Amino acid sequence: MAASTRAAFGVKHIAKGIGRLSNIVFQKGQGSFVWTDEGRKLLDFTAGIGVVNLGHCHPKVTAAAQAQIGTLVHGQVNIAMHEPMLNLIERLKPVMPDPSLDTFFFWNSGAEAVEAAVKLARMATKKQNVVVMQGSYHGRTFGTMGLTKSKTVYGSGFAPFMPGVLTSPFPYCSQCAVAGADPTMGFENCCNNPIHELKILLKQQSAPSDTAAVLIEPVLGEGGYVVPPPGFLPAVRQICDENNILLIFDEVQTGFGRTGRYFASEHWAVRPDIMVMAKGIANGMPLSGIVANKELMDKQNPGSMGGTYSGNAVACAAGIACAEVMQEEKVLENVAARSKQLFDTLNALKASPKTGHLIKNIRGLGLMIGLEFNSPTFPTLVPKDVPKGVASKVQAKCLENDMLTLTTSIYETIRFIPPLTVSEEEMKTGCEILTKAVEDVAR
Ligand code: PMP
Repeated sequence: MAASTRAAFGVKHIAKGIGRLSNIVFQKGQGSFVWTDEGRKLLDFTAGIGVVNLGHCHPKVTAAAQAQIGTLVHGQVNIAMHEPMLNLIERLKPVMPDPSLDTFFFWNSGAEAVEAAVKLARMATKKQNVVVMQGSYHGRTFGTMGLTKSKTVYGSGFAPFMPGVLTSPFPYCSQCAVAGADPTMGFENCCNNPIHELKILLKQQSAPSDTAAVLIEPVLGEGGYVVPPPGFLPAVRQICDENNILLIFDEVQTGFGRTGRYFASEHWAVRPDIMVMAKGIANGMPLSGIVANKELMDKQNPGSMGGTYSGNAVACAAGIACAEVMQEEKVLENVAARSKQLFDTLNALKASPKTGHLIKNIRGLGLMIGLEFNSPTFPTLVPKDVPKGVASKVQAKCLENDMLTLTTSIYETIRFIPPLTVSEEEMKTGCEILTKAVEDVAR
C-alpha cells in the first residue's frame, strides 16, 4: 500500500473511539527518534507515553527479546513458573524502594496491574472502598475507569462503574500558582489543603473501617504532571497507618527512572504497601506487575489470581535487559543532566520578554516535566490577551518542526517525557524546537 493511502486506510478502518494526536504512520524507531512511512524523522519526546524509557529498539533489550522468542514464548503462569520471570524478580528485588516489597506478580498492561492491586487491597483488608486522587489516571478497563479522574471522556457513556471509589484532591492549586505562590512549596497555606480534605473524607464519606486503600500516582501524570509538595505523601502515609488503610502507589508512569530515581516514592522516602509497575519495566514489551510484602500478598486466596498472558516470557526477558541497561548506561545520571538542560530552557522561556507572559508554571521531576501556560480556564485570574489552547498550539508547532510532545488533561500543560537515554545533542535540538514553537505562538 502506498504511504499516501495508508493513513486514510487507517482512519477508515481503525475504531474512531481511539483518540489520536495525529494521523502519522510510524514505521520504525531507534533511540530518541521515530520514522514515518513517508520517511519523516521525528524527535520523540513522548517515548510512547513514557514507555520506551531506554529509547526505541534498544539493542540489548531487542537482543534479549529475540533470544527469548526462540527459546520459550509462553510459559503460562497457572501451569508453571518460568525462568525469565524468576530472573526478572531477582533483578527487580534490589531496586525496590523498600526491602519489604519482596513478592511479585506480573500482568500485561498497567490497568490490569492497578486492578490487581485493588483486588489485593480488598481481599487483604476485607474492606471495600478505595480513595483515589482528583486528576488521577489509572487505566481504561472497566475496573480502572471508575478509578480514573483525569478526563470525563474516558468514562462518559460507559457507567455504571465499580462502586466504592471516592475522590480526594491532589495538591496542586492553579489559583495559587497564578497568584504567584509556588505550588510545590507546601499545601498548608493553600486555598486547597488536600490532607485536610482526605481527613474530612474519612469522617464524612468513607469510614476507615470501610476504606481498603488510598491509591495515588506519586507524581500526578495525565492529570497535570503535578509534583506534590514535600509533606504530602508522608502525611498520606501517616493517615493510612493511623487508620489501618493500605497505601498503593501507581508507579506505572513514574517508575523505572522517569523522575530521576528508580521509583518516584524514593524522593519522599515513603513506602507503599503495594506498588504498581508497567511501561518502563520492559521498554515497550507488554509487561506490568504489582509488588507487596509477602505477608500481605499471600492474603489472596490461592487460585484467585492469574491470566493467560500474565508475565509473558519474552516481555520478562526484555525486562531483565532493561534492568541491566539502567545500571550499565548510568541512566539515572543522564536523567539528572538532561532534566537540568530542559528546565534551563523552560526557565529561559519564562524569563524572556517575548514568551514569559504565556507561561504560568514549570514543574516536574527528572524527565517528567510539564510546562503550563496561562489559560482562560480560570478567567478571573488570567491576563485578557492570552489566546485559548496555548498548549495545543505549541504542541502543533513542535510537530510541524518534527518533534512529538503530549499535553495533559487540564491545566493547559504540555508534557515532556523523552526517552531517559536522550543525548545532550538531542535534548538541545528538542529545546530549540520548543523555544521556536513558543515564540511563534507568542507572536
Ligand atoms: N496508571 C498510570 C499512572 C498510567 O499513566 C497509565 C497509562 N498511561 C496506566 C495506569 C494504565 O496503563 P495501561 O495503559 O498500560 O493500561
